[in-house]
Amino acid sequence: MGAAKVKRIGVLTSGGDSPGMNTAIRAIVRTCAAYSIECLGIRRGYNGLINGDVVELDSRSVDGIITLGGTMLYTARCEEFKTESGIQKAANTCAYLGIDSLITIGGDGTFRGARALSEKGIKTIGIPGTIDNDIDCTDYTIGFDTACNTALDAVDKLRDTMQSHERCSVVEVMGARAGHLALYVGIASGATAVLTPETPVDFETDVFEKIRRGRISGRNHHIIIVAEGFGKVNEIADCIHHETGLETRVTILGHVQRGGSPTARDRVAATTMGCLAVDLIYQGKTNRVVCMRNGIICDLDITEALNMKKELSSEMLRAQKIVSR
Ligand code: ATP
Repeated sequence: MGAAKVKRIGVLTSGGDSPGMNTAIRAIVRTCAAYSIECLGIRRGYNGLINGDVVELDSRSVDGIITLGGTMLYTARCEEFKTESGIQKAANTCAYLGIDSLITIGGDGTFRGARALSEKGIKTIGIPGTIDNDIDCTDYTIGFDTACNTALDAVDKLRDTMQSHERCSVVEVMGARAGHLALYVGIASGATAVLTPETPVDFETDVFEKIRRGRISGRNHHIIIVAEGFGKVNEIADCIHHETGLETRVTILGHVQRGGSPTARDRVAATTMGCLAVDLIYQGKTNRVVCMRNGIICDLDITEALNMKKELSSEMLRAQKIVSR
């Protein structure tokens, strides 16, 4: 298998956006150029594949996007693509446009879509892109580090005012299904407690008692980080006030965490993963996901990848609990 067999690669971004998706697109386009493979950008996720909404990409068309958050190809969710007729329409578009291979950047859902398309004979490779780091097959997803740093910057600012007013800040960070972002931000910001969907919490010992003990030893402000999937931030803030007497303020960081110029870590991960995705297609591989495992960028079969499970780091959970006193 080699370049002669690959004529035109399509690339799309799908699901939630994340900083570094543009960097991955740039890497894919330029690696295609190195192999003299044409590259087509497909806009608005799988919708663009169904509707033929495409743009030709060459090395110069991705100049400067390495520093930009968001995705130049736009992203979307596409219900029609979850149906057999939607997938068939997308496969027909690929045949019409001469797209023999497709690289999809997104989350688990995006990979399921890629697998469905590979069953129609299109070579597909997935790249993990989401700020939540909630893709089980990979230690790292593009955008996670930027989102951590965006959230951390906001929490550091909240700490200043919480300290001045002797209050407790209850901060919701993104992560509907997973607490990776919450745990990283909680450790990095020195939060008193981190509440995630994965870990059970005993409010009396893990939150209220810590705050009461802090007060006795002279600490009068606190940060509680709550993952979106844990929820109930207003209720939690009311309970803390009721149980400890400390004034509380709730902040939901929301979509600000999705934006911003990607950090060096995200740019390096996106560039390396994008380059490997094209290499895999060039080698004739299909139905694979690029991932990072034990610090190494590698690839896995999509079905094997979708069946994996990833836990929150027990070392990190332990360190957070011990150090936050
Ligand atoms: P995020 O982590 O940001 O939610 P994601 O890729 O998991 O990203 P989803 O909304 O789950 O986001 O999926 C993105 C798109 O992938 C869907 O809108 C749909 O077009 C396609 N997709 C998801 N699941 C399937 C499936 N089982 N079969 C075919 N296509 C799918």
